[in-house]
Order: sequence, then structure tokens, then C-alpha cells
Amino acid sequence: MSAGADGVDVLVIGSGAAGGAVTKRLAEKGARVVCLEQGDWRKPSDFPSTGFDYEAQMQRPQFSFSPNERKRPEDYPVASAGQNPPDIEMANGVGGTTVHWNAQFLRLHRSDFRVRTLDGHAQDWPIRYEDLVPYYEANEREMGVSGLNGDPANPDQSFPLPVLPIGIAERVAAKGFNRLGWHWWFFGLGFLSRPYDGRPACDFNAQGWYGCGASARASIDVTYWPKAIRNGAVLKTWARVREISVNAKGRAQGVIYYDQQGNLHEQRARAVVVCANGIGTPRLLLNSKSRQFPNGLANSSGLVGKGLMLHGGRGVRGVFPECLDNYLHSGYAPVYSQQFYETSTRRDFVRGYTLLVGARGGPLSTALGTHVPWGKDHHRVMRQRFPHLIQVTAIGEDLPDDANCIEVDQNLKDSNGIPAPRVVYSFSTNTRKLLDHGASMAREMLRAAGAIEIHDEEPYPWTSHFMGTARMGSDQKTSVVNAWNRTNDVPNLFVVDGSSFVTGGAVGPTPTIGALALRCADGIWEHRREL
Ligand SMILES: Cc1cc2nc3c(=O)[nH]c(=O)nc-3n(C[C@H](O)[C@H](O)[C@H](O)COP(=O)(O)OP(=O)(O)OC[C@H]3O[C@@H](n4cnc5c(N)ncnc54)[C@H](O)[C@@H]3O)c2cc1C
Ligand code: SF4
Repeated sequence: MSAGADGVDVLVIGSGAAGGAVTKRLAEKGARVVCLEQGDWRKPSDFPSTGFDYEAQMQRPQFSFSPNERKRPEDYPVASAGQNPPDIEMANGVGGTTVHWNAQFLRLHRSDFRVRTLDGHAQDWPIRYEDLVPYYEANEREMGVSGLNGDPANPDQSFPLPVLPIGIAERVAAKGFNRLGWHWWFFGLGFLSRPYDGRPACDFNAQGWYGCGASARASIDVTYWPKAIRNGAVLKTWARVREISVNAKGRAQGVIYYDQQGNLHEQRARAVVVCANGIGTPRLLLNSKSRQFPNGLANSSGLVGKGLMLHGGRGVRGVFPECLDNYLHSGYAPVYSQQFYETSTRRDFVRGYTLLVGARGGPLSTALGTHVPWGKDHHRVMRQRFPHLIQVTAIGEDLPDDANCIEVDQNLKDSNGIPAPRVVYSFSTNTRKLLDHGASMAREMLRAAGAIEIHDEEPYPWTSHFMGTARMGSDQKTSVVNAWNRTNDVPNLFVVDGSSFVTGGAVGPTPTIGALALRCADGIWEHRREL
């Protein structure tokens, strides 16, 4: 692969779960790669986990998961509409949203790749689970995942690190699952149970959720990026891409981006890989209009931005007599159940959900988040609930619907004047039924575990999992990218992040995003002479 005088081999947009993995993989193979990231490196002092007042700090707008509330200079606003408008959560900076994530490592199931064949809905993926297995494994090694082998629902998963300590809430929950004879297992979690790859083990002192200053939790800034840079990749921070430019032949020739001072630059490349997440990617493609591509880049199918899947969520809390004292530790191994993951003809909905189980959180989040009354009953109710709560959350599959989408809002702009995205989202009947079932099974499990009181929450759209907005497929009319994440319309333009998902399963998307990104990098390298 060779590049023009002012160009590089591959230009990657976004440095999160997908961008970090693509860049590292290509750089270690010998490609000249530049990644443009609109934010900066994060410092330990950016995280509330370094202080004793973690929970109080988390109430401050600057530590919000929502860019609309946080309003850091690198953030862009996200509008929302529809019957269930989500308040989107994402992070913009080196490592992307993995700087804030929970690091739960669950893979899609084999059936998730064949939903059309099995259930008659959505489309099948043009790849199979088996195509991703070597890449799931490579990604788990790069990130450093702790877990217990032998899960009957995910028998292929084999973790590079031993399982984390098991908390009291998880032991109580496991008792409930065992009484019902339901599946349960410990999560694979990206918190280090042992020192690994130059990073220390988790010390279980605080909540690494919003960011771990010790780099014991796997976020892309501490896993892929140091290795990518050692392999010669260049990461330009404070570089916000306005549009992808094309030449007269309709090939991507590079991007136009703003630096921190608001000056415009051009970066050319032989191939461009968009990794700006399931919202940022369609926004950028739709904003990249030209004479050849008047409806946005790679959008001949009209599907860029359409078919957004978010997952549905529904929480149920149980109050227990036991003291569940693992409420502030982020490094304990939570448990989950995939008893209701697959379609059953005995239920009135297709596909299913995962039940996620954990202790409810510290005193402040219990007081503020569980409707504890203020006034004379406050202390009595708090004593009963804290630390006595187990939260069971159903995370449910959300099938694609073209009415759920990312649009460009011409009236809302980021600090460089680039039009912002608008998320339009409403629950489908299937998603609602699936979440109702999830809530009733969660109640049954909590009763079996010995809960003395049970509280239900309303269903909500999962505001941090964005999938399906530039989907993969084998038919160009019904897809935006092919099985190797190459766009159907522009031969040297690739899209890899949650956008390319065909269906979303009922697990967090990030392990699959990492696996797809490594596989996409291998495809680019394999076909480098054609680019
Ligand atoms: C609180 C929280 C907990 C989570 N927990 C889990 C979990 O346990 N398990 C799980 O699987 N997932 C979890 N997630 C989701 C996970 O973080 C995302 O799925 C993942 O980070 C997406 O990876 P990505 O590479 O697609 O995008 P991101 O990680 O969001 O990275 C995209 C990057 O692109 C940059 N960018 C965007 N537009 C531009 C532009 N125009 N120019 C330059 N740069 C740009 C952004 O600044 C950002 O850094 C969680 C998310 C949150 C918020
Ligand atoms: S992940 Fe572990 S080491 Fe990092 S802040 Fe959380 S508890 Fe501390």
C-alpha cells in the first residue's frame, strides 16, 4: 500500500472501541495510519473515582454521561424525538465511550446472526458467529477480560484472566436462580483480576465506572492506544471531522477537519474508516453531501441513519434482609441469566433478553434513585433499603424499524457549526412485550432469592447502545456496508462500529464492535493493493 505525497494509507475517524482496534491492527501490520479524534486524552483527575466523595461528584453536570448535560468543548449536542426520546449517553475523547463504560463482555449468540431465518424478522447477518470467534478472542486478549469459563449459554468463551471476587448480592441472586432452575453465570468483565499487559489489578476501592484512574479497567485509551502508537500510528486529538471528501471518480480522498482553534485542514488517505459510533457515523455520512452523493455519502440505499436499535431496558429492585455490602465496588463479578434469551413459541414476542444482576449502588444513588421519601420516614426507609437492594435489569433485543433513526438537525449545531444529530425513537410492541415479560421473570427470581419487598421501574430505551444505522448485508438495496464493512457505494470507504450491526441481540454491543473492527482491519490489509 502506498499513499500520495500528503496522504497516508488509512485514515480512521474516532478513537473509541472500533477506532482503537482498527488502528492498532493495521499499524502492527505495517500500514501508515492516522486517527482523527475530536476530543483529547483523559486524565485521572477527570474521573470522580479518585475521590472519597465519588457519589456526590457523580451528581455534578461535568460528570454526567449525557453530552447534552456535560457540554465539554469536545461534545456535540444530540437532539431526540419520537414516543420514547432517549437522553443519549456517550463520551468524546481518546478511548471514546469506553472511558465511561461498565466493561461487561458478553458475546452475541449464534442465533443473533440468523434472525430472519429463525424468526422471520429483520435480516440475517452476511457473516456467522464462527466468522467472529477468532476476533472476539483477540479482542478479549487485547482488552484483558476476567471471567469464569464454562458458561453453558456461552460455551466458547475462554477468558484470559481468572474471575473477579464474588459479592454478597451475587451469591443471594444465584440462590434465587438455582431455586428456579434457571441459567445464570458470572459476567466476563474488563476489570483486571491480576496485573496484566503492564496494567495493575483492580483494587476494589471505588467505582471505575466513569473512568478508572489506575487503568485497571479496560478502556481503549489504556488498552489499544499505547500499542497502536508504539506501532507507529498517529493519533491527532482535537481534530473534528466536518465531512469526508470524494474525488471525481466517487472515491473517498480524505476528510476536512477542524483543529482546536477552529482552523480547517484536509487529511488525505487511500482508505477512510468511519468509527464515530452508531450516532456520530450516520451524522457524518449524512453531512458529507456532494454532487455525486447529494443524499449523503454511501447512501444510495437511503438507509444511512435508518433502522436504529437501542436495546430496551427495565429494572426491578428487591429489598433483602441481608446486608449486601458490595454496593460501591465496581470490580466484583456481577451475574446474569440468559434463560430467556432465545425465541420461544410459548411467548407472544420474538427474540428475548438477558437479566443483569447487581447490588443497587451507594447511599446517595439509593436515596435519589429509588424513591426514598424525604421527611419523617426518610431514615426508616433508608435503613430498610440501604445496603439491602438487588437490582435485576432486563436488557432486551430491539428489532430494527426504519422509523427509528438518526437524522441531521439543521437548527442544532456543535461549536464548529456542524449540524448535530437527532435521534428519533419509539418502542415497538415486540420490545414492550419482551420487557414486560423480563420484569415479571425478574420479580419471580427476586422472590425466589428471598426479597421481602419488590419495586418495579418503567421500561426505558437503553441510551448508550447505538446500532444498525449503516447496516451490513449482502444485498446493496437493503444494506450500507458489505460483510467486510466496506461501503457498497464507495470502494475505499469503510464503516465499523455499532452502525453496521444487522440485529443487536440482548447484550452490550462493544465486544462485537471490537471483533468487527479487528476483522475489518484484516480485510483492508488483505485487499490493500486494490485501494
Ligand atoms: C455508562 C456506559 C456504560 C456502558 N457499559 C457497557 C458495557 O458494560 N458493555 C458494553 O458492551 N457496552 C457498554 N457501553 C457502550 C460502549 O461504551 C459503546 O458501545 C462503545 O464505546 C462504542 O464504541 P464505538 O467505537 O462505536 O464508539 P465510541 O466509543 O463512542 O467512540 C467514538 C469516537 O468517535 C469520536 N468522533 C465522533 N464524531 C467525530 C468526528 N466528527 N470527528 C472526530 N471524532 C469523532 C468521538 O469523539 C468518540 O471518541 C456503555 C456505555 C456507557 C455510556
Ligand atoms: S476499576 Fe478498580 S482500580 Fe479502577 S477505580 Fe474502579 S475499583 Fe478502583
